[in-house]
Amino acid sequence: MSGASLNAARRAAELDALASGEPVDLVVVGGGITGAGVALDAASRGLSVALLERRDLAHGTSRWSSKLVHGGLRYLEHREWGLAWESARERALLMGTIAPHLVRPLPFVTPLNSGMPAAKGTKTHIGLRIGDGLRIGARTSRRVLPPARRISALEARRLAPALSETGLRGALLSWDGQLEDDARLVVAVARTAAAHGAQILTYAGVSGVRDDGVDALDGLTGAAFSVRARRVILATGVWAGELSPAVALRPSRGSHLLIPAGRLGDPRAAVNVPVPGERGRWVFALPRADGLVAIGLTDVAAEGPVPDEPQPSADEEAQLLAHASAALEVSLGPEDVAGRYAGLRPLLAGSDTETADLSRRHAVSEDPETHALTVVGGKLTTYRAMAQDAVDRITDRPCRTHRLPLVGAPATGLASTATGEAPPRLARRFGAEAAAVAELGSTEALASGVPVCEAELRWAVAHELALTPEDLADRRTRAGLVPEWREAVLAAARETIPGSSSDSSPPPTSTTSIS
Ligand SMILES: Cc1cc2nc3c(=O)[nH]c(=O)nc-3n(C[C@H](O)[C@H](O)[C@H](O)COP(=O)(O)OP(=O)(O)OC[C@H]3O[C@@H](n4cnc5c(N)ncnc54)[C@H](O)[C@@H]3O)c2cc1C
Repeated sequence: MSGASLNAARRAAELDALASGEPVDLVVVGGGITGAGVALDAASRGLSVALLERRDLAHGTSRWSSKLVHGGLRYLEHREWGLAWESARERALLMGTIAPHLVRPLPFVTPLNSGMPAAKGTKTHIGLRIGDGLRIGARTSRRVLPPARRISALEARRLAPALSETGLRGALLSWDGQLEDDARLVVAVARTAAAHGAQILTYAGVSGVRDDGVDALDGLTGAAFSVRARRVILATGVWAGELSPAVALRPSRGSHLLIPAGRLGDPRAAVNVPVPGERGRWVFALPRADGLVAIGLTDVAAEGPVPDEPQPSADEEAQLLAHASAALEVSLGPEDVAGRYAGLRPLLAGSDTETADLSRRHAVSEDPETHALTVVGGKLTTYRAMAQDAVDRITDRPCRTHRLPLVGAPATGLASTATGEAPPRLARRFGAEAAAVAELGSTEALASGVPVCEAELRWAVAHELALTPEDLADRRTRAGLVPEWREAVLAAARETIPGSSSDSSPPPTSTTSIS
């Protein structure tokens, strides 16, 4: 496990070595899912790799997704067959080999009611059947993702009790993959890259790209340094234009609201409804393992400078609440919103279309002067294929990532094999490492209703490169999604990270177990 352990001491030693002129084959810029994926792909092919991220792992778009590993159904609506097939294939790899501990099957209920006239219902059912064809082609077993089928109104309401009964003729039941958490996938990919020798440096912002490496700034000390590298791959998402001005993006904002699941009758399935009058746009309510339901998703062109942390607009919030309430028996208002978040999709600029119609394809392009490659676009689900495309451009060595389990996946050899009982939250988030996490500290909830424990904070500092209290609250545990949870975790995190505590009060205590 030590090879996969990332922490402040390892970062400092690796930064020193790189800054003193030790060359690498590849510098990757950006520590979102794309950069982490590229680092893993290259390191597992035997290249020496350094990844530089200016903030924390998953600080950008990669933590603001809908957390779905999806089989590409929405691309079928846009007749993007290749993209749909790529998604189905990558989903099969993630759920079967790469990260089965982080991706779970999620049932989706699409109600057949006045919003879904018979003809549209039939078309949707045909689309779901084609999706099943892709699933079969990609060899995802029906035990993992059962085939789509029509269900009765009664069954639909059993799965999603808040579904409105008005005009409900039945529903379509389909299945797709849901991530435990997107930031955890990024951390798992980065740690697996580290286990293959990659040097992962956070708080290391790249200020310039040369043909023999990059210039960078240590965000913790303010010191400038350079890294010598044979090749550079930029994976800076919506910030791509800053270091590669030739890359044209049209970012689009997508927002989610988080509602306590109890308010919606503790659904066991997601509800998926079309947005009236808009082709290919759906609003969904996704139940999460932390007792929240995520309602999304908007798609709004985001002009102007790229913010560090995008926020949902009041308009988007009102739209989401209205669309969800129309499909449910419950009328949701702002008082029901426990948390909210927004992210910017790094969409490739195309013709003058709505952002909802812009392709989710990815691209790899080369800067004619520095020969740096930029890899951008795509989505979480297809990060591995994006990384393979990029790294294929710099080496002939064969890609190995399609059969490489991430840390925490069952039987990886990289993960701890310690056995023992771990609380369900730790098992869901750490897979085969959960028992080792539980050994590091208390597994009781930090405070009543806050689904985070001391053990995972300690683990994140020792093995997951959490350097600040915010890294712990906002990226490793995701308590930051709910303001009250965030406060409790920040208080405990200041005690866990030496030197970050500004007050000496002890962290909140509690006797509630986490689930
Ligand atoms: C609302 C929303 C919902 C989505 N839902 C899904 C979904 O359910 N399933 C799915 O498959 N996909 C989904 N996506 C798409 C997916 O989230 C993105 O395609 C993906 O996260 C992009 O990852 P990235 O690594 O390219 O970019 P990012 O995650 O933004 O990473 C780029 C990183 O580069 C760093 N960086 C920038 N400049 C520099 C610099 N100069 N030096 C060093 N570092 C730098 C940034 O700090 C950042 O961490 C969704 C996207 C959005 C916006």
